[in-house]
Amino acid sequence: MDFGKYVRTVPDFPKKGILFYDLMPLFGSSEGFPRLIETIAESLPTKTLAHVAGIEARGFIVGAALANRLGIGFVPIRKKGKLPGAVRELSYALEYGQDTIAIQDGAIGKGARVLLVDDLLATGGTAKAALDLLEQVGADVLETVFVAELIGLGGRERLAGRKIRSLLTYH
Ligand code: 5GP
Repeated sequence: MDFGKYVRTVPDFPKKGILFYDLMPLFGSSEGFPRLIETIAESLPTKTLAHVAGIEARGFIVGAALANRLGIGFVPIRKKGKLPGAVRELSYALEYGQDTIAIQDGAIGKGARVLLVDDLLATGGTAKAALDLLEQVGADVLETVFVAELIGLGGRERLAGRKIRSLLTYH
């Protein structure tokens, strides 16, 4: 299926000069969204996974649906201050300033096989931080799947050595 037909671009969002790839029409499509989840599920090299982990917020949409399809649990990686109880945090640099992500202690056991998902790969900063955090808690990350990838922003290079895959690519 051509999932790209459900993706629209929005100029100057979230700020002037940025062309935003909006995947909400894909997630909102009764034809496209189930097919997207099915396509990812069928493409996985193994079904023996413990969890799907997803990155806030759009990674939750794909990740939770995929976990449900695979019959396994979903673990959220959230922005700092959102998860209750004991958490492990990791800070990473943004173009201006920094951001911090967190995962709940005990959400993933040591050596547990995890699939990481997010909606889109751009510079790779978010995904690299999530992968570093998952590795810190001892997860065995099988691969990272993105619905879309913006080529030329350095994401693939930043994630060199990690197994990553995207369903749609944009130049
Ligand atoms: P990166 O850290 O790779 O530069 O940015 C990727 C993160 O920012 C992802 O979590 C993604 O949801 C969000 N993001 C950045 N640009 C876009 C975009 O054009 N469209 C969408 N849907 N998300 C984006």
